[in-house]
Amino acid sequence: MNEHQTKKQSAAIIGAGISGLSCAKQLKKLGFQVELFEKSRGVSGRMSTRKAVDWSADHGAQYFTARDPLFINELDEWIDANVAALWKPRLKVFKDNQWIDCFSAENRYVGTPDMNSPGKYLAKDLSIKLNQTIDRIAYDHDQWHLHSLEAGDIERQYDWLILALPAQQSMALAQSIDKSIEALALNANMQGCWTVIASFAESLNLPFDAAFINNEIISWICRNNSKPNRSGQETWIIHANPQWSQEWIALDKDAAAKLILDSAMKLGLDGHKAKISIHRWLYASGHANPIPGFCLNADLKIGFCGDWLNGGRVEGAWLSGHKLATHIQSINY
Ligand SMILES: Cc1cc2nc3c(=O)[nH]c(=O)nc-3n(C[C@H](O)[C@H](O)[C@H](O)COP(=O)(O)OP(=O)(O)OC[C@H]3O[C@@H](n4cnc5c(N)ncnc54)[C@H](O)[C@@H]3O)c2cc1C
Repeated sequence: MNEHQTKKQSAAIIGAGISGLSCAKQLKKLGFQVELFEKSRGVSGRMSTRKAVDWSADHGAQYFTARDPLFINELDEWIDANVAALWKPRLKVFKDNQWIDCFSAENRYVGTPDMNSPGKYLAKDLSIKLNQTIDRIAYDHDQWHLHSLEAGDIERQYDWLILALPAQQSMALAQSIDKSIEALALNANMQGCWTVIASFAESLNLPFDAAFINNEIISWICRNNSKPNRSGQETWIIHANPQWSQEWIALDKDAAAKLILDSAMKLGLDGHKAKISIHRWLYASGHANPIPGFCLNADLKIGFCGDWLNGGRVEGAWLSGHKLATHIQSINY
């Protein structure tokens, strides 16, 4: 038995989005003591759901696909646990002012009853400190020390540190410690996304459930109630396209909502009859190229995972966390 096997290794993971949760679950399975720190009051990050009294809607990730056998396995577990299901929307494409039917054969999945349900399912057996924004990290005497905005110095120290955060947030925390992360994060060039949630007292009866929109401010609209196990008022999600969102990221919320709703009118969605919420995602999409999968500095025992290191999107994020954990275990023993 070597030195490592006598004592359980500990790991702190910053960020309880799907990549942090998958990394935590796998590290725990491999025998590590794991603790997650999450700045929000709930888990799931960008796989999130906004709730009001009479509606709820997935305002981040809209659906996910599953191609890698490891992720297909995980998805099967989620489906068995009733936290994910196949979604079969009536899909259209809007291009050059024309509607075209979309006959994609792709299987699209969603969390059930909400997009954050798989994240909540993964979080069940994990130790997670919510409402903790980690704003400083330091490596001293082979141990990681954390500081949080809300609680000050975190008493416990850790053998390993994982940053499961979007590119810019990883860079802000770690660039003074691991120089390589800066170039990678800049290469990912993550962009924002303005999102409007429009809830209607009556059904709009539009001839589609979701649509990809080309050459407009908007890139996607979707009737949230078309997803399995949804309830409440008819609610539509409207995403502005990444380039426009990034260009106008500093816009006032009401001004952004007006421009997006004006653009949606052209698609038959009259937002004047709706209750409107707006959300600005600062880091919504983008990924490093070529795709590294994850990033690890074994000397400093610091690792990075997340969608931006593995092609973007939910599947890539889950795989990034899972593979980082498996790699850490393989070099640890
Ligand atoms: C508008 C939008 C639409 C999308 N549509 C799709 C889609 O249709 N299909 C698809 O597959 N993907 C889609 N995505 C992308 C998908 O949501 C992401 O790929 C995936 O959820 C990323 O997971 P993650 O764990 O890498 O990061 P995140 O989910 O961003 O998790 C990071 C977590 O870290 C926390 N955090 C940040 N800083 C700190 C800190 N200092 N201390 C503590 N915690 C911190 C955050 O609160 C967050 O919970 C979409 C994303 C957005 C925003």
